[in-house]
Order: sequence, then structure tokens, then C-alpha cells
Amino acid sequence: MKLTDLTITQAHEGLKNKEFSAVELTKAYLDQIKHKDTKMDAYLSLTEDLAIGQAKAADRKIAEEKDFPLLCGVPSSIKDSILVEGQQATAGSKILENYVAPYDATVIDRLKKQGAVILGKTNTDEFTMGVSTENSAFKVTKNPHDLTRVAGGSSGGPAASVAANQACYALGSDTGGSIRLPASFCGVAGLNPTYGAVSRYGAIALASSLDQIGPIARNVEDIKTVFKTISGKDPLDATSADYIFAQSDIKIKGLKIGVPKEYFKKGIDLEVENIIKNAIRKAEQNGAKIIQISLPNTEYAIACYYIIVPSEASANLARYDGIKYGLSDQSPENLLGVYLKSRGEGFGPEPKRRILIGTYSLSSGYYDAYYKKAQEIRELIRQDFRDAFEKVDLIFSPVSPIPAFKIGEKVDDPLSMYLMDVYTCPVKLAGIPALSLPAGKIGKLPVGLQIIGNYFEENKILGVASLLEKVLQ
Ligand code: GLN
Repeated sequence: MKLTDLTITQAHEGLKNKEFSAVELTKAYLDQIKHKDTKMDAYLSLTEDLAIGQAKAADRKIAEEKDFPLLCGVPSSIKDSILVEGQQATAGSKILENYVAPYDATVIDRLKKQGAVILGKTNTDEFTMGVSTENSAFKVTKNPHDLTRVAGGSSGGPAASVAANQACYALGSDTGGSIRLPASFCGVAGLNPTYGAVSRYGAIALASSLDQIGPIARNVEDIKTVFKTISGKDPLDATSADYIFAQSDIKIKGLKIGVPKEYFKKGIDLEVENIIKNAIRKAEQNGAKIIQISLPNTEYAIACYYIIVPSEASANLARYDGIKYGLSDQSPENLLGVYLKSRGEGFGPEPKRRILIGTYSLSSGYYDAYYKKAQEIRELIRQDFRDAFEKVDLIFSPVSPIPAFKIGEKVDDPLSMYLMDVYTCPVKLAGIPALSLPAGKIGKLPVGLQIIGNYFEENKILGVASLLEKVLQ
């Protein structure tokens, strides 16, 4: 086995048994990236000096402490919308092209305290708006299983880096599906945590009432390890919850699994449907009780999401004015001119589209008809899930209606991109956790099963996923 094939747990064992050092492991990854990433474009920048420095420090820690942390000396990649002190943080946008993060996000601080190694910053759709990384201002990340196809988005860089053994694990973020969808397309596991389970401090915001940082990894065990490290209360994020992720014994036998009928209506690819139904059958064969459920307001989720997210985005993106951060065009004579020019040059088409939609739906005279209405629908969607979790422990569904599509296939049709979020965005509107677990392949293209849980029930999701991943492989 190559060093870059190892999971976190395996790498930890190897480090513990002195089979290799953290510096050797880190160099193996950096080599792999330099050889393979020119074709795949998962990384926007390498943080080589930081990585080698961290690996050396990890080797010292390993020499001194018998029970060093699981993540100590293990190399990761970080989505470029998450701040790592002293490193670039573009969020995939030209407006932040030369922006250097002045501090660490809380999740990075927590990783560093464990002795983690950070290899580099990975590609994302601009301000994490998208499903394919085609909205990145810099490059399109290719799918490691088929380079003519997208890796998914917006955390396409993080997911591809893990799938192609260019990082042992990664941090991504999920506002409407951005961890689960690329994880599904790339054949790796990805967790969208309960809203509030992980601090958002130091994550460049898209929509603050939905954004969550979460792990992407090769297996469920590794997801647990990273999630345990990054989750929990943070005084720097008032929306973070007093939550300690603890693992307990979960059994599939007797567990009630809901299958929402609205998620298998027209629009879903038949082969995707077969893979998901097969996973459901496998759960049943292992003792789960399968129950048909209804989430009646599913059909309004996309419309609701694409009012709320642009509204919040239009407010969050107001700070990029050409003065405070990043790109600044000082050629105009007055301040308004500087704002207009800098924003005009710095933002790509998707952020502009969302700023327009968001500003419109928040403006007086339209607020009640759009934003307020969307908030009411959001409550109905929350209630759908609350009702469902009265009857079942977990919900199984597809992550995406189709597998990874061809690069360029949908770029001229933003609506068809938005529709890709149909199974992932309702979860976000409710604020509940969900995992994408590799469930099978169509040809060489991976397909993920979505396992949805109730608030703060990551333990149940991950417990069942651990058992299922063995039978699905
Ligand atoms: N595709 C969704 C959007 O464009 C989700 C993005 C995300 O989760 N960051 O808004």
C-alpha cells in the first residue's frame, strides 16, 4: 500500500509504529499533488512550507508522547473559503485573489492543536455558490474517476483531493449540498453537520443561517475522527451549540428508516435510483425496518432556498467594497465609483446574479412576497422533518438525481444547476445533519446514499453508516 492510500487511522498506526515519519508522509502527498494535480486541479494553492513545518513539529510530538492525537502528522486539504492564518483565502473569487487570511478559523485552530498537517487550499465555486466548481474564478476541478466530468461542488477541490489521494482528509462547507454532492460524485464520505455543531468563525460566509463546515474523508471512521475534533461550542460563534459528539453503540437491527416518497419522483436517473434502493434493501436485510414517509413540502424547497440564500448572500457580500478587502480599482474619482468598479470587476456572474435576486427579494414592497414567504415555507419544511422523525430514526435518500455530469454541460443554464440541490437543500433549510456515503457506481461514476438524521444525531448517522459501508463495498 502506498503512503497516500492510507486512511487517518492507518496513517496514525504507521506513525505510531515508526513505519514512516510525518515528514515522509507529508512529502509523499506533496509529490502526489505535484504529479497529479496538474490534470485534476483540486488545489488552488499549496501551503508547502506550513505543511513541512507542521510535519516536523508532529514528528517531535510523536517522539515525545505515547498517546499522540489521531490527527497528529496526518495531511489534510482545506477549502479555500476557510481561513488559515498567513495563507491565501480566495473563496474561488477574483475579488479575494490576493487576500491573505489574518487569523485561523476555529476549525483550523482545533486541527492545529491536534498536530494536523495542512497541504494546501482547495478549489471551490465562487463564494461556494454552485454544484460543479465551474463557478470558480480560477479553474474547474475534474472528477478523479473521469477527467471529462465535474467533481461536484462547491467543495469539489476538497472532495477530489481526498478521492485522488492528494489529501488524507479535507474540510469543506455545506450551505445547500456543497459537501455531500461532491462527496457523492467523487466516491468519498462527506458529513454536513447539524447547524451549530461546528463553529463558522473564519469561514467566508455565503448564507449565515445555513453555512456549516464539515469533514470529507475516505471512510466513516475518519469522518468521526475529524468531526469530533472540529465540533463543539466556540465563544467566537454565537450560533455554535454546546454539543459534544460522543460515539455509542448503534445497531441497525430494529432501527426505523424512512424513505420519502417525494424523493423518488420523476427527474431521478434510473440507475441512481437502483443504487439507492439496493442500499435500502441492504439495510433491511440487516434488520432495519423500512417505512415509507412523506415530506410534503419538498417541492417548494428549491424555490425557498434560492430566495433565502441570495438574500443572505447579498448582505454578506456587501462587505467586498474594494476598500476593506481584496481587489480594489481606485481609478474612479469618487468613492461610489470605486465600489462599483471593484465589485463589477471582482465578482463573477453567479455572485452578481445572487446579489441582484437577494437585493430584490429584500427590498421594501417585495420583502413580504419573497423573503417573508420563503421563511414561512422554511418553517413548513422544518415541520416536515420534525413530523418524520416522530416516526423514524433516520431517513435514506439519494444525494443527487444524477451522477457527475460533463464539464460544460450545464454552464449556460443556472436553473438546471440549482435543481441539482433538490435532495440536499431541504436538510439545510431544516438545519439537520446528513452524510453522503458511497453506495455504488454507474460505470466508473460513484453514487452516494444520503443518510439524514435528527438534530445532533450525527452519532446515529455515523453508526449506521459504519455498518453499511462494509456491506455496500
Ligand atoms: N449548490 C448550492 C448553491 O449554489 C449549494 C452551495 C453550498 O452548499 N455552498 O447555493
